[in-house]
Amino acid sequence: MRMRKKKHGAERLAANARYLLERPETPLADPSALFGREAPTYLEIGCGKGGFASGMAEKYPGRNFLALEKISDVMVIAVEGAEARREAREADNLRFFIADAHDLPLWFAPASLDGIYLNFSDPWPKARHAKRRLTYRSFLARYARVLRDGGDLAIKTDNDGLFDFTLEELAEAGWTVLEQTRDLHASPYAEGNVMTEYEMAFSEKGKNINYVRALPPTEHTEHASSAPLEQTE
Ligand code: SAH
Repeated sequence: MRMRKKKHGAERLAANARYLLERPETPLADPSALFGREAPTYLEIGCGKGGFASGMAEKYPGRNFLALEKISDVMVIAVEGAEARREAREADNLRFFIADAHDLPLWFAPASLDGIYLNFSDPWPKARHAKRRLTYRSFLARYARVLRDGGDLAIKTDNDGLFDFTLEELAEAGWTVLEQTRDLHASPYAEGNVMTEYEMAFSEKGKNINYVRALPPTEHTEHASSAPLEQTE
């Protein structure tokens, strides 16, 4: 996401520090402890302006939501949005952190999360940049590692090329597809769908939205937790 440099970005983040996590000294085995309650805990990767995470936290007060974004100027918008929507949340169930998805294993211990969302990830259309795509197999291995037994990955994208690539990578890495459609808004999965900022912009232009939900390979998960992670670059 491109963005003009935010004025007073650091101050604006500090003013909303209650929503922001610092990187833990050791990866979190029980992220729900961050919320002071036992509840299923979900992570959105590349949350952008944070509308999806806020919407999910409002819709599911019984669940905890974490959202990460690598660009701090974008995070300013996300935390200010969360604060603006504070009254709409029944529970104190929303937190953000500034991080690169690559560093996920530094934040979360194996089998610690109930679900992961990837919404409108950067497509990196050039073949030589394929390893940067957030659905490249080395990223899928990171997600498999931090997901609990039964935890799944839900992906939405406008980008048909990225979607094709994602389906190939999921198959290659042995994930089980539970739900899949190339036209989310015309599908049964549209019910209960919380739209992201990108999703609203693309669907207003008439673009179909691709969606897939998948489970990591159980027999490889154990392996994945102990094996060294492949480096992307
Ligand atoms: N999910 C939002 C934003 C989509 S744009 C929406 O649907 O509206 C993709 C976002 O992912 C950008 O904000 C970008 O900064 C972030 N991003 C891209 N690569 C990332 C990475 N490796 N780690 C964390 N965030 C990343």
